[in-house]
Amino acid sequence: MSQVLPISNRESWPWPPAIQASALVHVVALGAGLFVSGAWPWAIGALVLNHAVITAAGLTPRSSLLGPNVTRLPASAVARREIAITIDDGPDPDVTPKVLDLLDAHGQRATFFCIAERVLEHPALAREIIARGHSIQNHTARHRHNFSFLGPRGFAREISRAQQVLEEVTGERPSCFRAPAGLRNPFLAPVLHRMGLSLISWTRRGFDTREGNPATVLSRLTDGLAAGDILLLHDGHAARTALGQPVILEALPKLLARVQADGLRAVTLPEGLST
Ligand SMILES: [Zn+2]
Repeated sequence: MSQVLPISNRESWPWPPAIQASALVHVVALGAGLFVSGAWPWAIGALVLNHAVITAAGLTPRSSLLGPNVTRLPASAVARREIAITIDDGPDPDVTPKVLDLLDAHGQRATFFCIAERVLEHPALAREIIARGHSIQNHTARHRHNFSFLGPRGFAREISRAQQVLEEVTGERPSCFRAPAGLRNPFLAPVLHRMGLSLISWTRRGFDTREGNPATVLSRLTDGLAAGDILLLHDGHAARTALGQPVILEALPKLLARVQADGLRAVTLPEGLST
């Protein structure tokens, strides 16, 4: 299925300065290599360095070098004392219902970056997330581990499939996207732009797919907690505590208590991003 874009749409993509600079490096290096005697080693060195910088940016989830990337809520949300709790990799039939109960008990809301194939396995649970006042956003169709190595077509397939599934199941079309582990390459930003999706990363994360100590996860999330923060936890792929509990179930109640004690309010991303 080819996706032919109108020229105007293609041209509307504002290539980030770093990518424009990268293109310039290629042109200059090629020109120097061809026309300046003895310049080849320098030209190749410049290209290798350029690719190292671009790759490093793709491996840095909070970087904006490859395109727009939301790491905090806007000033309007800060003024409203809002934060966003984002919960990735679900829905999970064992963990997510308990997470929903904890959020209800504290009267707070969250955003679930769901994997579309898991939504297809548990559609009623996805609808319950929405019915209880939370938001579901796009975390790809399958959460492929090689996601960050895909090209434009691969990105478009994974992301548009998830858009379709999430909208069909929940009745709401996502406006936010998060890459698996936050990893990407320069081809992602134009695809998101075309689909009207905002790339969302985070202010802080608990590394709770690997860290089983709830106190460590909590302190990573709350050290310096302030209005506008976007926090990352996991209901899917959650690490287990020493007692075998998914770590989110022990860390989340304490996080919610801290949010309330600090006079903050956890809202969904669409609420927090609204001005
Ligand atoms: Zn994930």
